[in-house]
Amino acid sequence: MNDRTQGSEDLIRCSVCDDYFRGREAYTCPRCRRQNICKKHRIAGFRECASCVFESRAREIRELKQQQDSIKSFLRLTQFAFIVFAILFITVRAGIADVVEFLQYSIITENLVYLGAASVLGYMLFFFILRNQNSQVREKEEQLQREKFRMAEK
Ligand SMILES: [Zn+2]
Ligand SMILES: [Zn+2]
Repeated sequence: MNDRTQGSEDLIRCSVCDDYFRGREAYTCPRCRRQNICKKHRIAGFRECASCVFESRAREIRELKQQQDSIKSFLRLTQFAFIVFAILFITVRAGIADVVEFLQYSIITENLVYLGAASVLGYMLFFFILRNQNSQVREKEEQLQREKFRMAEK
C-alpha cells in the first residue's frame, strides 16, 4: 500500500518521450533547458541530454569536414605550385630561359629547387594533417552511431 501511494504521488511526465517516471529522477538539461527529462535521454558521462550531445557531436563533425575541404584546396594549391616550379626549373635547365628574359635574373629562378622542395614538404605536411582529420571524423561518426544505437535500444 505504501508503495502505491508513493508511486502515484511521485510520477511526472517526461517532456521528451511522454513516459511517466519517478519525480526524483527528473533531470533538467543545462543546455537546452528542457525540464523533466527521464533518464532514458541521458548519456553516461554527459551533463547534457542525448539530443544536445548528438547535436554538438554532429556540429563537430561538420566543422571537421569543412576544415578538410580547406586542407584539400590547399593540397591542390601546393600541387599546382610544384608543377609551376618544375616547369620553370626545366625551362631554366633546358636553356629556354635565355629566351625568356624575365626568368634570367629573378629570385624565383635562383631558388627554384628550394621552392619545389618547399611545396613538396607543404604537400606532405598537409597530407598527413588531412589523414589525421579523416580518421578523427570516422572515429567521431562511429562514436555517434554507437551512442544513437544504444539510445534506441533502451
Ligand atoms: Zn523520456
Ligand atoms: Zn538538452
